[in-house]
Amino acid sequence: MPAFCLHSHFYQPPRGNPFVDMLGSDHIGHEPGAEPYENWNEKVTAECYLPNAELGNFELMSFDVGATLLRWMERHAPNTYSLIIDADRKQFALNGAGNAMATPAHHTILPLARKRDKVAQIKWGIAGFAFRYGRQPQGMWLPEMAVDLETLQILHDLRIRFTILSEAQVEGAFEGAGPYWVQLPDGGRMTVYVRDDALSNQIAFNIRTLGGAGRWARSTLASRRKNSGRLTLVAVEGETFGHHHSGEEHFLHWLLSYEANAVNHNVTTLERDLRDNPPQAEIRIKEYTSWSCPHGLGRYAAGCDCTPGPSNWKGALRRALDNLSNNMDDLYVAEVEPLNLDPWQLRNGYLEVSMGQKTMGELLAANGLTDAADDVVSRLNLLLAASYFRQRMYTASTFKYEDLARPEPRYAIANGLQAITLTRQATGHDLLSGFRRDLAQAVSNRTGQTGAQILDGVQM
Ligand SMILES: [Zn+2]
Repeated sequence: MPAFCLHSHFYQPPRGNPFVDMLGSDHIGHEPGAEPYENWNEKVTAECYLPNAELGNFELMSFDVGATLLRWMERHAPNTYSLIIDADRKQFALNGAGNAMATPAHHTILPLARKRDKVAQIKWGIAGFAFRYGRQPQGMWLPEMAVDLETLQILHDLRIRFTILSEAQVEGAFEGAGPYWVQLPDGGRMTVYVRDDALSNQIAFNIRTLGGAGRWARSTLASRRKNSGRLTLVAVEGETFGHHHSGEEHFLHWLLSYEANAVNHNVTTLERDLRDNPPQAEIRIKEYTSWSCPHGLGRYAAGCDCTPGPSNWKGALRRALDNLSNNMDDLYVAEVEPLNLDPWQLRNGYLEVSMGQKTMGELLAANGLTDAADDVVSRLNLLLAASYFRQRMYTASTFKYEDLARPEPRYAIANGLQAITLTRQATGHDLLSGFRRDLAQAVSNRTGQTGAQILDGVQM
C-alpha cells in the first residue's frame, strides 16, 4: 500500500525586548493587528496550535516546532505545549518512532553561517529537543529548507538521520518522496526526504478551493499515484491549518484520520517511515537553495526580487552583524584559550546552562576546568550569554522581509546591543562604536532611518 505523510513546520520569529528578556521570559507584549488577542503568538495559538492539538493532529502528522516558539509556548501557552510534547511521546512509546523533528536553535539560514556557528546552532537545537521531548531527535528541519553540503555533513556527524528538501532543491532520478541518499564530502551519506512541491503548494495556498479533504484525497492524492513512488510527502507551514486558512485544521484532521486511508494510503510520519524503509536510490542537492527564495539565498544575503524595493540594506546589515560577531569571537577566544579550554566546544555546551539544566561550574568541569576562580566563572558566564544573543541576531526573519525599519531587523540590532553590553561587562572592551559605524551604512527605504539610528532608538 502506498504511504502518505504530511509534515507541518510551525514557527513564529522571536520578538520582544531582549533587555527585558534576559534568557527567557519571551515577553512579547501588545502587537497591533492581533486583536482581540494581545499579540500574534497568542492569536495563532488560538486559531491554529491549540485547535490542532485538541483534534489530535499532532499525533497524525510529522511536525517540527521552532525552538524559540516552543520556548514561548512553554511559558505562555502551557496547555498547548503539553499536548504537542505528549503527542510525540505517545507515538514514540507506541511505535518506537516519534512525530517531531528538531530545529536549529535560532532558525538561522545555515548555509550563510560559518562552520562553527552551524555546529552551535545544530548542537543547541539537539540539546533543546532532547530536553523538551525527552529523547534524541532523528530528523532536523532546516530553517527555510536552506541547504548546503557542509550543513548536511554536520547533521550527519551529530547523528541526525534525515531532513526534508523540496523537489526544486534536488536533482537526479527521483520518483516520490524517497527517502534518498545524498553523498557527503567526507564519504558518508545523509538521508533526505523530498516533498511533492505541487501538492504542498496546493494545500498551502489553495486549501479553501479543494472542496474538502475527501475530495482532495479522491481526486488528487489517489490519481497521482502512477509516477510518484511509494511515499508521497506534503510539507507546508503548519499555520496553514487554522491561521492562514481559518477552520482548515479540520481538513488536516479528516485527511489524516480518514480520507487518505479511504483511498488506500497508509498515513505515516517520516521517522516511522525511515524505520521501515531505508534509502535505496541516490540524489544530489542544489546547494544554497531554500523553499522561500529562488535566487540562491539572495533574500537572506545581499537581497533579491523576493522582496519589493531596494534591498541593499540587507548586505549592509549582514556586514555589521558579521563584523560584530568576529570581534566578539576574538574577545571570547582571548579569554578562554589561556584556560586551556576549547572555546567552541565550551560554547556548544552552553544551551544546557541557558535552560537551567546545568550550572556554569558543571559545564566548565565537563570541559576539564574544575578549579576556576569565581571571577573567571562569572566572566565566562557573561561571554557565553553574549554569544547566545549574538547567535539570535541571525534568525532568518531578520533578513526575510522588505525593510530595515521593521520589527525583525530592529530585534536583531537589539540583540547585538545586548551582546555588546555583556561583552563589555566581561572584558571592558566596548564594541559599540564599530557596530554603530557599520549600521550607519544600512538605510530603511520606508523611513530613511539608518541602522545606527535604530540602534540609538533601541538603547533608549
Ligand atoms: Zn529571492
